[in-house]
Amino acid sequence: MVRVLVTGASGFIAGHVIRELVGAGYAVRGTVRGRAAGATVAHLPDSVELVRADLNRDEGWAEAVAGCQYVMHVASPFPARVPRHEDEVVRPAVEGTLRVLRAAADSDTVARVVLTSSTAAVTYGDDYHRMPVLTERNWSDPEHCTAYPKSKTLAERAAWDFAAAEPRVELVVVNPGLVLGPVLRRRSTTSTDLVRMLLCRSVPGSPRLAFAPVDVRDVAVAHRLAMQRPEAAGKRYILAGEEMWMQDIAKVLADEFNPRGYHVPTGRVPYWLMWTIGRFSPTIRSGLGLIGRPQRVSARQAEQDLGWSMRPVRESIVDTGWSLIEHGLVPARGR
Ligand code: NAP
Repeated sequence: MVRVLVTGASGFIAGHVIRELVGAGYAVRGTVRGRAAGATVAHLPDSVELVRADLNRDEGWAEAVAGCQYVMHVASPFPARVPRHEDEVVRPAVEGTLRVLRAAADSDTVARVVLTSSTAAVTYGDDYHRMPVLTERNWSDPEHCTAYPKSKTLAERAAWDFAAAEPRVELVVVNPGLVLGPVLRRRSTTSTDLVRMLLCRSVPGSPRLAFAPVDVRDVAVAHRLAMQRPEAAGKRYILAGEEMWMQDIAKVLADEFNPRGYHVPTGRVPYWLMWTIGRFSPTIRSGLGLIGRPQRVSARQAEQDLGWSMRPVRESIVDTGWSLIEHGLVPARGR
């Protein structure tokens, strides 16, 4: 049986990638850091073998990749708040990626590594306002980035540099946009938190923030295709739908959930209010530069090369909401 290592098995996207791989007949080994308590991995299929490895440490990675033909490197810090120091995010992202790639290159078995990067490594350049749509040719400029996009940009750059120097292992990179869709356990990740906050009305409305959403189930399929398709070697693939403003996401949620007793706010939060709150909140302050900024990216390359397609975004948004309710992350009010 072909064996695949998936890093960060406890995570939102990794859980779906693991399900997709097991469903397609692969044997899966997953990494967790520290002591993975039962609840963090209970949603994974029983057949998954779990091993320990931390992106910040060398130990465990050689054993983790041993006997695997493929590696999906999904793990990376994805904090909801701006860290005290960017190194808390950037170091595990960059050094962890290099640890995983080094272990794969040193193994006798790994043929290909699929790296989960992000549109955050594409859209933070100074070219965004000149281009109608950004593609895989565009790169974020780390100098224009806050900690998280910087971590994704530098980690992906480091991975391509590594692959150029070590051609024995093929590299494929996937760059998802805002990943929505059903959470598999009682934990909301940074992207699904957008839906949780709107459903719980913990925000008064939507600042003018743009996203390019994609469904986690489609992202999982794309990971599998990126692993399987020979022609994907050496390429990066944007996985994201059309630009959607936060207020539009709120309206989809309001249509579905407000008739069921929820009060999703559909108004706009003006810039001056964000600016005022930003004086007290470093996280809001760091996001002010994103207000009004477009998020137009193209997934055409993934569609053409991988035969990949996306489900309608409305389905992803609504399914996120229902799964948050099902797992008790949003109070139930009856269907
Ligand atoms: P998530 O649920 O927070 O998953 C992150 C995973 O990384 C968790 O398993 C976490 O382990 C692990 N991790 C973090 N720091 C680690 C460390 N030092 N050592 C080992 N493992 C570590 O977030 P996600 O949304 O699934 O994100 C997964 C990947 O997709 C990330 O690379 C992220 O940048 C990328 N991505 C996400 C989105 C999105 O919208 N969600 C969009 C584009 C790209 P613990 O459970 O132990 O914390």
